[in-house]
Amino acid sequence: MGALRISLTDRCNLRCRYCMPEEEYAWLPREDLLTFEEIERLTEVFVSLGADKVRLTGGEPLLRRDLPELVRRLAGLPGVKDLAMTTNGVLLARHAEHLREAGLHRLTISLDTLRPDRFTELTRRGTYPDVMAGIHAAVATGLTDLKIDTVVMRGVNEDELADLVEFGKKMSAEVRFIEYMDVGGATGWTPEKVFSRKEILETLAREYGPVEELRKTDVAPADRFQLPDGTVFGIISSTTQPFCATCDRSRLTADGMWLRCLYAMTGTDLRAPLRAGASPDELRELITGTWQQRRDRGAVDRVGQRARGQQVFVSVETLKRDPHLEMHTRGG
Ligand code: SAM
Ligand code: SF4
Repeated sequence: MGALRISLTDRCNLRCRYCMPEEEYAWLPREDLLTFEEIERLTEVFVSLGADKVRLTGGEPLLRRDLPELVRRLAGLPGVKDLAMTTNGVLLARHAEHLREAGLHRLTISLDTLRPDRFTELTRRGTYPDVMAGIHAAVATGLTDLKIDTVVMRGVNEDELADLVEFGKKMSAEVRFIEYMDVGGATGWTPEKVFSRKEILETLAREYGPVEELRKTDVAPADRFQLPDGTVFGIISSTTQPFCATCDRSRLTADGMWLRCLYAMTGTDLRAPLRAGASPDELRELITGTWQQRRDRGAVDRVGQRARGQQVFVSVETLKRDPHLEMHTRGG
């Protein structure tokens, strides 16, 4: 077991079209959300099983009140080697300093466009200036190892790749381009809208000259590349070249459902045993037994299903019945 992604809430202050195309959803009941203490106890169990890399995500993790308190608790756990967070940046300006003080190691900010009008169109909220303020605050705070994640969609933002690379340079942040994925919630996805890894590389090579692929030194989802001027960027090609075979990630939803794959249709409820008083050893046994049976290859299976012309979407009705299937519940 390598990396654990913890979704802290299913709520969000944006409505990105590729993730939360609706305004209203079936939300997780508030009383089901794990408390900070419960998250800490479960993280301790996962870390003891080798999950030494932890990423906080959501929904929007900064919507969780007193988040720096949770960061402090998790950063203080022996065995957590890497504590990161993925945020949309809207609330970052007021929290960046506290997050750094609390011990957050790394920060990823999602940003798909540098054009305010496009941002509003894409996220259905007019908070572009807040995101910019958040990114600048993160830089000023000295949070190093900053990343900017961009979902690239044909006809939406594929004309901004070089602008985003230049912005990343200015902010000393590594930009990572993500292929548009047909995950639960992405009900507007079509294969035509995927701007592939190959196309991303061709576009940047036209702009900058030959692009060199860097040798992979870890099992992180991004492949990394270098431009002639030395700038490094990443591509996460989950749709056209999935990396299931090397994936060591699992996910915990805000209400304690543990998922072995981003695409999994079912998970293991850890909240119930935790609240019923299960000991760390009992939880370890439950998790290890489940992990040993892991055969998940969600993204690879999707490629095969699409090639056979099979319907791969979870219907909107099913999504409405079970919020656990949504990307904003399980964390990207
Ligand atoms: N709200 C935070 C944010 O946006 O950074 C964290 C949660 S969000 C679900 C995590 C990541 O998933 C974001 O970078 C987002 O762009 C990505 N994501 C969401 N839906 C996606 C999709 N259909 N295809 C590819 N990436 C997606
Ligand atoms: Fe956008 Fe992240 Fe919110 Fe999804 S969870 S709508 S990707 S900001």
